[in-house]
Amino acid sequence: MSRTNRVLLIYTGGTIGMGRNPETGALEPLDFNHLIARMPEFAALPVAVDVHQFPEPIDSSDMNPQLWGRIVQIIVGHYDRYDGFVILHGTDTMAFTASALSFMLQNLTKPVILTGSQLPIHQLRTDGKENLITSIEIAATRKTDGTPRVPEVCIYFSGKLLRGNRATKINSEGFNAFDSFNLPHLADAGVNIIYHDELILQPDFSSPMTPHFAMDSGVVVFTLFPGIQEETVRYILASPKLKGIVMRTYGSGNAPQLPWLMHALEEATERGVVIINITQCAAGPVQMARYSGGFLLKNVGVISGYDSTVECAIAKLMHLLAHSNDAEFVRQQMCRPLCGEITL
Ligand code: ASP
Repeated sequence: MSRTNRVLLIYTGGTIGMGRNPETGALEPLDFNHLIARMPEFAALPVAVDVHQFPEPIDSSDMNPQLWGRIVQIIVGHYDRYDGFVILHGTDTMAFTASALSFMLQNLTKPVILTGSQLPIHQLRTDGKENLITSIEIAATRKTDGTPRVPEVCIYFSGKLLRGNRATKINSEGFNAFDSFNLPHLADAGVNIIYHDELILQPDFSSPMTPHFAMDSGVVVFTLFPGIQEETVRYILASPKLKGIVMRTYGSGNAPQLPWLMHALEEATERGVVIINITQCAAGPVQMARYSGGFLLKNVGVISGYDSTVECAIAKLMHLLAHSNDAEFVRQQMCRPLCGEITL
């Protein structure tokens, strides 16, 4: 018996659905139903697609944890009725949202594919049509046993299917806007879509998906640089609501061997602040015992973020800190892959 696969398209905003404001000339989000009504490709799809649009579509620079919760709510409310979900999202914060959703949708058993575009979908040279149509195809694809081919949160962009919590925006101009430097692509779309099945996560299909809504924003990202000042670092660390830090260090997790820096970080970790060491490099992991600076960080309680992206480390910290007041537990969980986000 043939069945039509159903995909829910969740339009949050972003360039893909934007048009120019005639007064300012700036791009602003438009009604997406109106845009796809003018797309004949949509009617030709062998997949049934329904659209759920944010009441006020946003530029993704306005994305926040409450809106992540709203996306989770929409997915939960439609979970049983759809084979997969495509989220249209601005590229600027897409990697943060993809990372956050990967933790908020625990034991996800259906595809959740984020995509967008660099040019609005109604422009002649748009990259939006291919990104959208291929994302829908991926979200609707099943294996011969009937289970979804890609039951995880992904970003599809410009021919590449990437694990969402491994992806990062790499280009503000080219169509090739995303990559995942520490994990090969999950699929490559050319004439055919070539899936790399051995890399794709397999959930427990006999257990339900568990949604999580809470995220704790008491976190900060700070980047080391030559000449960093004690006063500034102490000011950040003294912030009363601070519970977690993603520290972007040099190379394989290295830091200047400044006694004041180590004391300040030690005081913070003893106070229960969770500090994660992430490299400033685009590719490669943190190896804290490799150089003396990294070794000192380890000694003052800083935790390795392995090969995590910054976007993923911050989202994982926000998720864990919202679910536990035990800093030691959060540190342990940061060192474990929860949904394919780090390689140990
Ligand atoms: N500023 C836009 C956004 O992130 C850029 C894009 O969609 O590519 O919403």
